[in-house]
Amino acid sequence: MFCLETEVPINGWANSLFVHLSLQTSSGFNDRIRTSIDKIYEKDAGQRNALVIVRPPGHHASASKSSGFCIFNNVAVAAKYAQRRYKAKRILILDWDVHHGNGTQEIFYEDANVMYMSIHRHDKGNFYPVGEPKDYFDVGEGAGEGMSVNVPFSGAQMGDIEYQMAFQRVIMPISYQFNPDLVLISAGFDAAIDDPLGDYRVTPETFALMTYQLSSLASGRVITVLEGGYNLTSISNSALAVCEVLQNRAMLRRLRDEKEQFATKPNKLESSSIKTIREVCALQQKYWSILKGFQIIFGSVLNSKLVNKNGKSNAATLKVKTKAATDPIEPSSSRRYNTRRQNRRRSDNSEVDDVMAKIENMKL
Ligand SMILES: [Zn+2]
Repeated sequence: MFCLETEVPINGWANSLFVHLSLQTSSGFNDRIRTSIDKIYEKDAGQRNALVIVRPPGHHASASKSSGFCIFNNVAVAAKYAQRRYKAKRILILDWDVHHGNGTQEIFYEDANVMYMSIHRHDKGNFYPVGEPKDYFDVGEGAGEGMSVNVPFSGAQMGDIEYQMAFQRVIMPISYQFNPDLVLISAGFDAAIDDPLGDYRVTPETFALMTYQLSSLASGRVITVLEGGYNLTSISNSALAVCEVLQNRAMLRRLRDEKEQFATKPNKLESSSIKTIREVCALQQKYWSILKGFQIIFGSVLNSKLVNKNGKSNAATLKVKTKAATDPIEPSSSRRYNTRRQNRRRSDNSEVDDVMAKIENMKL
């Protein structure tokens, strides 16, 4: 067995860097993940995050079965431990690995206290894991209905602007309304530019931005755990960007100084991503009132050039679609998890305007 375990203390904003490379045993892994949870709950505000470098990844593993290079579901174990040891009441798991974390979603599909959110490559169901419930209408079951939020991209090679849009329109609004007391990031870097499996083009700056935004939740209690990634350079550049944000936000300051803000970059927004976000918002607003009305302001928020599959400008299409998007969309097929379903609505949030203002100000 090859095993390296170390904890590297980092001065300043951060926190802890945990390195755990081994052929896993459940007891060995649990020691590490327990330590990372313990540390962030013991730290004062501003020192409550961690980056856990762990191999192999875990988000495809279910409670009873390994899958897709994953043996133990690292993030799920962390969530369960936080619930039992620290009585965490609302845990957010954000999965930006290019593949859907089917194992994690399945474990918490009926859990009313753990939210699973994923931005992933879907390709209309034909991207791994094929056959798993990972479309926008897979929202959880029973007590967990509305607690699974999937942003399934199809039809184009997605990158910075599409991921930023998903965060601004879906991930952060719902996260604010959910108001977690712990955030776990399933940080796969196979959506990163130059990854041979993901074939997406997300840059380190976007991973930094997403980390920055998530760090505003849960009083800064954020644990970032590695998942997939198949280009070592892409992984290292992206993980470094995340780590810089967790440490002291140095990268954000540099980007701001260099005026490399996303809003000022020339953008080519893939039109199919608009359809995806529209479908997610239209359905999830049944559970998350903060999403109501979001669709109609796409055009004003995304000051970018839309392109369709043929590379032609598609701004007119956006107007037509966003108008139609005010009608809720119902799921088009039944789910695979055959459990009792309940109609459940989230309480309205009377502070929607305040939250929207916070989100809009969350630029680099
Ligand atoms: Zn992956």
